[in-house]
Amino acid sequence: ELERLKLPPWLKTKIPTGKNFGHIKEQLRKLNLHTVCEEARCPNIGECWGGGKYGTSTATIMLLGDTCTRGCKFCSIKTSRNPPPLDPNEPVNTASAIASWSIDYIVLTSVDRDDLIDGGSTHFAQTVIEIKKRNPNIIIECLVPDFRNNYRSIETVANCGLDVFAHNVETVEILTPFVRDRRANYRQSLEVLKRAKEVNPNLVTKSSVMLGLGETDDQVKQTLFDLKACNVDCVTLGQYMQPTKRHLNVIEYVTPEKFKNWEQIGEEMGFLYIVSGPLVRSSYRAGEFFIKSIIR
Ligand code: SF4
Ligand code: SF4
Repeated sequence: ELERLKLPPWLKTKIPTGKNFGHIKEQLRKLNLHTVCEEARCPNIGECWGGGKYGTSTATIMLLGDTCTRGCKFCSIKTSRNPPPLDPNEPVNTASAIASWSIDYIVLTSVDRDDLIDGGSTHFAQTVIEIKKRNPNIIIECLVPDFRNNYRSIETVANCGLDVFAHNVETVEILTPFVRDRRANYRQSLEVLKRAKEVNPNLVTKSSVMLGLGETDDQVKQTLFDLKACNVDCVTLGQYMQPTKRHLNVIEYVTPEKFKNWEQIGEEMGFLYIVSGPLVRSSYRAGEFFIKSIIR
């Protein structure tokens, strides 16, 4: 068995702070809205909710319940073949809560729902429509499952009025069977991203890769090329962290310098933006980077 690696200093996390942080937290309690940011105790919450230089705050909300039909080996979300039915009021309730909450960029993500015919795509679309109805200026990113590459489901989301279509390949091709659920597939995920852009060329598309699972530099580079070839606009790279002992071991803690180097390589490749760092998560300061990339 592999010896557990020691946590390097750059991953010892800071206490969340920031101007907007306390205010948003207070609002949330009144709205009874639950964010992934808080529930996952994300170390970036101060930066994301604070909004940074452009004052564009970002938060992540989870749709379609808390139980996933898949079981990826890096993920601590609970799994069941038959999760409870969807809450039909979720789109409206989520939208009215978000409307009375000062946030600029919202990431809607979800568990995978292979038990539903449409994979939950209609529910995503309804939520986006309800949010935009109340707040047309909010920027919405949907971080969606692969929908088993079902064309109708991808189309439903791609044309619902969202701004950013995100789907994560999570890791390099060769490690995919060891990292993601067996129903996931690297090529399938690339297809999903490619299709979304074909369906609606105005969309910004985005994907995320975890490093530290034993991938080689060449494999990371190939992944960036593959994403570029599918017209993916934005990429984030972050360190894989083992959620519990039963999950995949961390093979390597990639240094901040190396992450920076990937950022340079990605920029040279011409991505709209690439964000790469040990604590980067797929939604990390997404609002700020989005605004920065469209005004430059
Ligand atoms: Fe929330 Fe994502 Fe930012 Fe973490 S990285 S605080 S989950 S928006
Ligand atoms: Fe976790 Fe998503 Fe995999 Fe489900 S599909 S186990 S939510 S990473």
